[in-house]
Amino acid sequence: MTKAANETALPLKALTEELFLTGDLCDAGLAALISSEDEETRSRLAARARETTVANYGADVYLRGLIEFSSYCRNDCFYCGLRRSNAAARRYRLSKEEILDCCRRGYALDFRTFVLQSGEDEYYTDELLCDIISSIRGEFPDCAVTLSIGEKERASYEKYFRAGAERYLLREETGSPQHYARLHPPELSLEHRLNCLRELKGIGYQVGCGFMVGSPRQTPKDIVCDLRFFQELQPQMIGIGPFISHKDTPFAACRNGTAAMTLRLISILRLMFPKALIPATTALGTISPCGREEGLMAGANVVMPNLSPVGVRAKYLLYDGKICTGDEAAECRCCMQRRIESVGRRVSVSRGDHPDFGCRQRIKKAAPESSRAAS
Ligand code: SAH
Ligand code: SF4
Repeated sequence: MTKAANETALPLKALTEELFLTGDLCDAGLAALISSEDEETRSRLAARARETTVANYGADVYLRGLIEFSSYCRNDCFYCGLRRSNAAARRYRLSKEEILDCCRRGYALDFRTFVLQSGEDEYYTDELLCDIISSIRGEFPDCAVTLSIGEKERASYEKYFRAGAERYLLREETGSPQHYARLHPPELSLEHRLNCLRELKGIGYQVGCGFMVGSPRQTPKDIVCDLRFFQELQPQMIGIGPFISHKDTPFAACRNGTAAMTLRLISILRLMFPKALIPATTALGTISPCGREEGLMAGANVVMPNLSPVGVRAKYLLYDGKICTGDEAAECRCCMQRRIESVGRRVSVSRGDHPDFGCRQRIKKAAPESSRAAS
């Protein structure tokens, strides 16, 4: 049950307290907090969000090693540098061995989650993806594999799950159909994307959704649609980052999202979804030099350093100005630890599953009918 839409006369301080105490507000209250611009509200929201993070996770921050394994994409999202119409994009693919090498380097640096992300690249058949996933799980049984490879058929999601992938990141990008149509060509639909998320959840994945903050013509009302969708789906992970324009896309001239709005939203998300895994994203670190530290201070509890080979990093350009394209994985790891500790938090060397996610439930759901009957 969510609070109905109505007008709010409450001041921002009272709205923050109500959100902290109840985890929800009416639509007008949420919109008022989202669009508030004063420093006092931002810091009050952040303080309440930090309190909530510490109550649920202590000082722990989880590391996810990001492996960007292909920059090819069949889609044409208007905002993204990897879109198929971007003839200037430099394309590459990593082989299974190259991906495993990234995992090996990551494992030695204490990573216990590998996030495989790419454009929607049909070169990687289900068979090849399952082989990659099961090889990673075979070599690193104590690690989680997260996929972020876009919209697929349910049967494919099931195959990856059986091969050992347990988490899936698929941002809805916006919860408003009208706004979705402003960001995507007509062949892509919000309905299909949301259905993918529901299917992933139904299969048993820990699911991550999210959106870009400040995408062109996005309104606070659009963002309320995202928050309501999260209340329905109850995702385990929620990733948001500022929209950042890419020079070779139709949105080249559009204004970027802001760090202040992103930080406010991280805090609102933490108060609405106290147990969610919420990253301080690279995009936030790109628009603001201490963006990731500020993200942690505002309620985030995950960071995703890059494990991709240095030679390909600058080719995976979703947006302009991406940071950390020249640093080796070990440098990124050290830098991240320093940043985490600088805000009084500590790196957790664990898989960092969602607290409600039981291991047995995962195994039961992953096992095919026949093996379940036999055991
Ligand atoms: N192809 C997959 C995964 C790669 S894109 C997918 O689309 O789900 C990963 C995320 O990058 C997207 O979900 C989007 O939210 C973000 N992204 C793309 N272009 C961006 C931009 N210009 N600014 C900020 N984030 C962007
Ligand atoms: Fe492709 Fe994802 Fe970029 Fe859309 S956002 S063009 S699906 S890589």
